[in-house]
Amino acid sequence: MTKAHNFNAGPAVLPQAVLAQAQAELLDYQGRGMSILEMSHRSKEFEAINTQAESRMKALLGLGDGYRALFLQGGASFQFAMIPLNFLPAGAVADYLVTGAWGEKAVEEAGRIGTAHVAVNTAEGGFRRTPDASEIQLSPSPAYVHFTTNETIQGVQWASMPDLGDAPLIADMSSDIMSRPFDASRFALIYAGAQKNIGPSGVTAVIIREDLIAQGRKDLPAIMRYVTFAKNNSLYNTPPAFSVYLLNLVLGWITDLGGLDAMQTRNQRKAALVYGAIDGSGGFYRGHAAPEARSLMNVTFRLPSETLEKQFVSESQAAGMVGLGGHRSVGGIRASIYNALEESSCAALADFMGEFLRKNG
Ligand SMILES: *Cc1c(COP(=O)(O)O)cnc(C)c1O
Repeated sequence: MTKAHNFNAGPAVLPQAVLAQAQAELLDYQGRGMSILEMSHRSKEFEAINTQAESRMKALLGLGDGYRALFLQGGASFQFAMIPLNFLPAGAVADYLVTGAWGEKAVEEAGRIGTAHVAVNTAEGGFRRTPDASEIQLSPSPAYVHFTTNETIQGVQWASMPDLGDAPLIADMSSDIMSRPFDASRFALIYAGAQKNIGPSGVTAVIIREDLIAQGRKDLPAIMRYVTFAKNNSLYNTPPAFSVYLLNLVLGWITDLGGLDAMQTRNQRKAALVYGAIDGSGGFYRGHAAPEARSLMNVTFRLPSETLEKQFVSESQAAGMVGLGGHRSVGGIRASIYNALEESSCAALADFMGEFLRKNG
């Protein structure tokens, strides 16, 4: 089998070593005579996986007591609702920074539940940048402040985590969690659909400060409350067991490679190859994001015409690359180069871009 160069935006590439381990363990998990897929989530085997996933998640983020890592369902999109349901009571205001399509969705959903204030919106020009501190208009005492660390569709990432005051800080890190080190202890809640950087679809990681869990609204259905999952170690009801198992293997893979510092080094090298091909093209390839807000995870760019973009995508497929078409809402080209993607795939893309330029530039 020839491995595809997988630039899919999500679900996305997984580490080859993780897939190989899952394959080896698929039919007979640790000599139990059955697959993980067939086991009770109350079995000691699954409980061990679940516990290890939580401790690996916290260890990688440098978090100890005072935080929980929960594994929920419903995707990051369910968090768009669950967060305001729990933490945005009547009479309060939550602040949202909007730097792309996912932040827009998050604030829209919050507005259906309570009062959401848009502290800044960088839509002008098509979400190409992150704002300066002076543009951000926080409300006097927000219930929380929410932002999106990496906008997956536009390829815009905060170069460093912004200072957003003293209110509980909440971030959607679906597409850049575990890709670089940062001070996680500044956050009250971090969430991420696993299917971009840390696993398959079906599980959503929520890292939450314990004091915030206790503040959640109490008159919600149990299934919508963080406290329900915290008290039950994410086993309130049947979890997406196989997704959690794979997530745990991916977290083990990141840990073995050296954690977030090692991921950052790896990701910077990869991104430099692709941005290098853009910057060295004499304007043939035009990056979407402002250089200082360029994402290390999703590289977005345009070609001189849509015809050339179509040709680029189809020729890239013939060259063994998949997933390079931009999101349907913005067009152009997007190369998602998440943690698990090997540097050799970025090198192959950069070579292909150079070749395509020589033929069509
Ligand atoms: C993909 C993505 C989402 C949506 O995730 P689902 O798990 O499909 O709901 C939300 N936010 C960001 C930043 C994403 O990249």
